[in-house]
Amino acid sequence: MFRMKKALATVGIIAILFAYSGMAFASEGAGISPDDALAKLVSGNVRFVEGKQMQKDIGNNRRTELTKGQHPFAVILSCSDSRVPPEHIFDAGLGDIFVVRVAGNVADSIELGSVEYAVEHLGSPLILVLGHQMCGAVKATVAGGKPEGNIGSIVKKIAPAVKKAQTTVKDKDKLLDAAILENTKNTAATLTQKSAIIKHLVKEKKVKITAGVYNMATGKVELIEAGTAGKAASSHEPAHEHAHAEHSQAGH
Ligand SMILES: [Zn+2]
Repeated sequence: MFRMKKALATVGIIAILFAYSGMAFASEGAGISPDDALAKLVSGNVRFVEGKQMQKDIGNNRRTELTKGQHPFAVILSCSDSRVPPEHIFDAGLGDIFVVRVAGNVADSIELGSVEYAVEHLGSPLILVLGHQMCGAVKATVAGGKPEGNIGSIVKKIAPAVKKAQTTVKDKDKLLDAAILENTKNTAATLTQKSAIIKHLVKEKKVKITAGVYNMATGKVELIEAGTAGKAASSHEPAHEHAHAEHSQAGH
């Protein structure tokens, strides 16, 4: 009788342990916080800028390991521009980042669905919307006119950002950069405006949204001031000081 009780108790403890580890696994995802994920991206970008890329395992061992599943620590929604490849910019390896690339880094239902998949099913804690200098899609929108084929769908998505930039920036030379910034912020805002899944995860503090603009010449990603990234377009400039602080913090 005593033995039976002991055996049952043991089974009970094992069941609880299994339930607990199951729960921990389900909510763990990439296993790091949104802030730590951002610090990882920032330090990866510092290595890229300095030309000190990490030795990464992109061979057999890592590939085999990844056949068991993926837990990317960040989602990057960026432009398709050949000069802006997120894996290089953030010095990331196989299975590290979940990348959604589309001309002009816009977010329509297909892009939103891709981001939803990563944050909900893969447990990625961070979404970074990445714009970049000299973006051809934004440039075409600034130029105006009627684009051919399906390019019009992209231009239509970028148009509100250009309109917003035109109301605040009178200097024509600065208009493209301002429109790129607005467009990046608009996409970040769209993530919670058009996706109940992302909005819910952000509210639960399981996911953070941030945004940045890639500098073509230096390779540096300038983070847009926290607090404006996830909100509707405003006239804030990128928070250079904030980005510097993140960089030095991540450098330790
Ligand atoms: Zn672009």
